[in-house]
Amino acid sequence: MADAARERVLVRKVADLDAAVTEALDFLEQDFRGLRVWVKPNLLGSHHPDEGVTTDPGVIAACVRELRNRSARAVFVGDNPGGGLTAPLSDFVAVTGAVEASDGSFTDVSLRTTTLKLESRFVPRVAVSALLNEVDLILNLPVFKTHALTILTGAVKNLFGVIPGRQKTLLHAKARSAVEFAELMVDIYQALPVPVLSVVDALRGMDGPSGPSNGRVLRIGRLITGRNPVAVDAVMAMMAGTKPDRIPTIRIAANRGLGPDRLDGIEVTGDSTPIPGFRLPTMLVANLGTFLSGAAYTATASRPVLAPDRCTRCGRCATGCPVEAITLAPTPVIAFRNCISCYCCVEFCPERALSVRRGIRGLLRRMSGR
Ligand code: SF4
Ligand code: SF4
Repeated sequence: MADAARERVLVRKVADLDAAVTEALDFLEQDFRGLRVWVKPNLLGSHHPDEGVTTDPGVIAACVRELRNRSARAVFVGDNPGGGLTAPLSDFVAVTGAVEASDGSFTDVSLRTTTLKLESRFVPRVAVSALLNEVDLILNLPVFKTHALTILTGAVKNLFGVIPGRQKTLLHAKARSAVEFAELMVDIYQALPVPVLSVVDALRGMDGPSGPSNGRVLRIGRLITGRNPVAVDAVMAMMAGTKPDRIPTIRIAANRGLGPDRLDGIEVTGDSTPIPGFRLPTMLVANLGTFLSGAAYTATASRPVLAPDRCTRCGRCATGCPVEAITLAPTPVIAFRNCISCYCCVEFCPERALSVRRGIRGLLRRMSGR
């Protein structure tokens, strides 16, 4: 998938969004004429755009418009949210603004599935949206934000959304540590049958230990664009204040020759200066996870913690837990001996009643001065 040549990434400050998206698509040097394009935003759940969780509807609308202007044969906008759906997809994600922004191109990608074979030590195949086999390329629109498990959720991680339904959650039980899960993310990216071009929505960003749905929203005001998702993620990591090879998905992808994990392998155009004060989740044990697995990883992992006053007892956390570690009594009670620290419950809680509490990871991080 990756070119041997230096990868190019554009970081564009956004004053006029339409102009910025036009420049981003120009930068990709892709002839879209006659192509069927899956515009793949991050539609994690029912979140208002101001929450910084989902792709800004303005970015989606501008991409759809540009693709039509560039004579794409068909444009489909869709994503598979994190947990199970509680309503038809278009209703479930209506509050994100994505359906309206799609201007008739919104597609319920959860309805039809096909099988994607993987070269993976975790699972031999996954069910994916059938649309994957019906398009010529993916225009990937991740959001610039942290992820409690994978540290950042960027271009490679956003492609996990080709998988519909609860299967995504259950895969956490197959690849339990942060590094194992990152490896599975790369397995899926590597198996995709079509090219992936990425425009990261960094108009807003989200930082902190409880991403991708419960963090501090920041105004960043940039788009990050590139043909290689690993290179795009590497620039994103640098802007978030860390070395790319400290992000497991980037490191693993680079080891497979899928992209660079060093900035000297990337030609960056524009303003990629780090975002002042950007707070990443703890990384030390996530990276030590290369050597830790199973019980050792579980023992050192951070834990979800409940703010009972915010909890509406809706039960989405319990339904979404891949190892059934949560019971409602009537608010959630977590059996930590079973918890694998996947943070799905934190991700799926619509009330931000769950967050990540640092365990030994946090202690080690503070000791290491990071
Ligand atoms: S913690 Fe969140 S997801 Fe779980 S029951 Fe309470 S409100 Fe619902
Ligand atoms: S309790 Fe939360 S963090 Fe623990 S396994 Fe269940 S969903 Fe994952």
